[in-house]
This record gives sequence, C-alpha cells and structure tokens, in this order.
Amino acid sequence: MKSVVRSNISPLISKHDVNRSESVLSVDTLGNVDAPTCKCGKKCVLYISKTSKNLNIPFFRCPYFKQNRPHCNFFMPKDKFIESQITMVELLEAKINQMERDVEVMKIEIENDMETKINRLERDMEVKISQFEREIELMKIQMIEMQVKMEEATNWKRYVRMVGVVIVVWLYPFVFGSKKRLFK
Ligand SMILES: [Zn+2]
Repeated sequence: MKSVVRSNISPLISKHDVNRSESVLSVDTLGNVDAPTCKCGKKCVLYISKTSKNLNIPFFRCPYFKQNRPHCNFFMPKDKFIESQITMVELLEAKINQMERDVEVMKIEIENDMETKINRLERDMEVKISQFEREIELMKIQMIEMQVKMEEATNWKRYVRMVGVVIVVWLYPFVFGSKKRLFK
C-alpha cells in the first residue's frame, strides 16, 4: 500500500521525503485556504523544500512532523492536494449536474403522470355526467308518466261523479214522482 502511495508522488519529492533534514519548516502561507487532514485528524502544515534539486516545492505534512512525538507521516505535495480539491469540485459539479438532470426527468415524469391522471379523471367525470343525464331523463319521463296517470285518474273521478249526477237527475222523477202518485 505504501509503495502505491509513493508511486503517486514525483521521484524528486519522494527523495525529499526520505531526506527529511533537507526540508525547511516554513510559515503557513496558505492563510484561509484549506489544508488536507492527516491520519491523526489534524490540519496539515505547509512546508517548502529547500534542497538544491527540489527548490521551493510546497508540500503538506502531519503537524507533528518535526516534533519529537509520534506522527502519521502524512505527506502530500501542495499541487497534488490542489489537484485533488479540483477533482473533488469537478466531481461535485458532475454530481450536481446529474442531480439537476434527474430532477428534470422527474419533473417531466410527474407532469406526464399528472396529465394521465387528469385525463382519466376527466373521462370518469364525463362518464358519470352522462350517466346522471340519462338518470335525469329517465326521472323526467317517469314524472311525466305519473302526471298523465294522475290527470287520467282525476278525469276518471270527474267522469264517475258526472255519471252519478246524471243518474240521480234521471232517476229523481221516477222515485219521487211515483211517491207523489202514491200519496195522491
Ligand atoms: Zn498526523
């Protein structure tokens, strides 16, 4: 694993890493710029190499490096760190773009789904409305039929009453006339 890490580092800096004494501790010139976190979980310190072969090459090290205490031996050239930051930003950008595309697709899907649902609802409503209309028509016909029947019944009652009156009028002279004749 360590050999893989070393292969990523340029040979000049690797050599420099081995010859620790040749590097010079520098003031952190990064200011507010981010620094990598070492395996101890600490923000790294920026050093600048002062070897003749490797003059003024900035690199990050564990903050406990150069201190008389155990440390994780973390090492990363500044260029590589910036590169990794750029890669991370690019990855984030790509991720955001992908997410934006996903959102667009989802929006279209939702719109299509809504449209399908609305169309189905409209069709259902139309079917229900036409059913209601048919029912209303049927009820109207039933009502007219009932009105006709009621009218017929009323007419019939009137007719019966009229016939009754006619019969009474017609029978009156016979009944009372014969009585009169009997009394006489
Ligand atoms: Zn460390």
